[in-house]
Amino acid sequence: MKILVAGGAGYIGSVCVEQLVERGHDVVVVDNLSRGHRQAVHPDAWLEIGDLSDVAFLQRVFSATKFDAVMHFCAASLVGESVSDPLPYYGNNLTNGFNLVRTMLDHGVKHFVFSSTAALFGEPRSVPIDESAIKDPTNPYGRTKLFFEGFLNDCDAAYGLKSICLRYFNAAGASEKFGEDHDPETHLIPIILQVAAGQREKVMIFGDDYATPDGTCVRDYIHVLDLAEAHILALDYLRGENISDQFNLGNGKGYSVLEVVAAVESVTDREILIQMAPRRRGDPAVLVAASEKAREILSWNPTRGSLKQIITSAWQWMDNHRAGYQG
Ligand code: UDP
Repeated sequence: MKILVAGGAGYIGSVCVEQLVERGHDVVVVDNLSRGHRQAVHPDAWLEIGDLSDVAFLQRVFSATKFDAVMHFCAASLVGESVSDPLPYYGNNLTNGFNLVRTMLDHGVKHFVFSSTAALFGEPRSVPIDESAIKDPTNPYGRTKLFFEGFLNDCDAAYGLKSICLRYFNAAGASEKFGEDHDPETHLIPIILQVAAGQREKVMIFGDDYATPDGTCVRDYIHVLDLAEAHILALDYLRGENISDQFNLGNGKGYSVLEVVAAVESVTDREILIQMAPRRRGDPAVLVAASEKAREILSWNPTRGSLKQIITSAWQWMDNHRAGYQG
């Protein structure tokens, strides 16, 4: 298949591109490289550097290749930043997403895989969270993703655009070649690993007064390769069944921030200095997925579920890329 991957130079996108290429698909990556890295694009994929706000650029890319499907990973995706500076969230996640979908429709491309998020649920009424749970985001990031899911439903009803929305819980870990390299880094596991590697003095714990067993936030960490697998299955499902749907993707097991710190200490055999800090705005206390629907309908079978395995893969990637993709 010919697949356009928007955001294929970013963390999750790069691993999905790797998996698509390894399965023999022709991949064109569209990325503005604002947060992604040229070196993160698999050498057998074609990279078009440009921005989704540039409709003429998108028209050129879609005119040059007749795509079978589009995967859309581009997003501003930091919970705290979305609260303090929501404008780029609405611009990137809504306006630019509209441009991409409108251009697809102009060119008769009708299959779309969308990177959605657990953040659209907000503070869950019950855990684990299945697809029918109330969606009441606690931050602008989650709100933009929820709005876009609704937009995709409308595009299905009106234009027959079939989409699969994959709601990631906390993506983590690395493949052998592709991993997480953000600047600045804000995500928990890479930050703790930076402390283990001596690149950072300590990790701040954002809140220890949540209604959780140890007071710190609980998240469901899912290996990026298991997420990539879900994208491949979603594509097959779209092509085979031609039905739109939404799936929650996680392991169904939550770990507190302090448990993640302890797991990193065990994997790396190094002590991690922590410091308690105020809550980060927009953070729900607990996000844990019920992923039975993805297992049943997509035949998704995540195989790298242990936190130790996830952290080990990220640690190995960091060891091989001491300065990230620049190293
Ligand atoms: N967190 C933390 N210190 C950090 C980074 C994150 O305590 O330096 C917490 C954060 O408040 C959240 C959890 O770790 O409860 C996971 O945060 P992350 O940013 O990795 O992912 P998110 O849940 O926002 O998608």
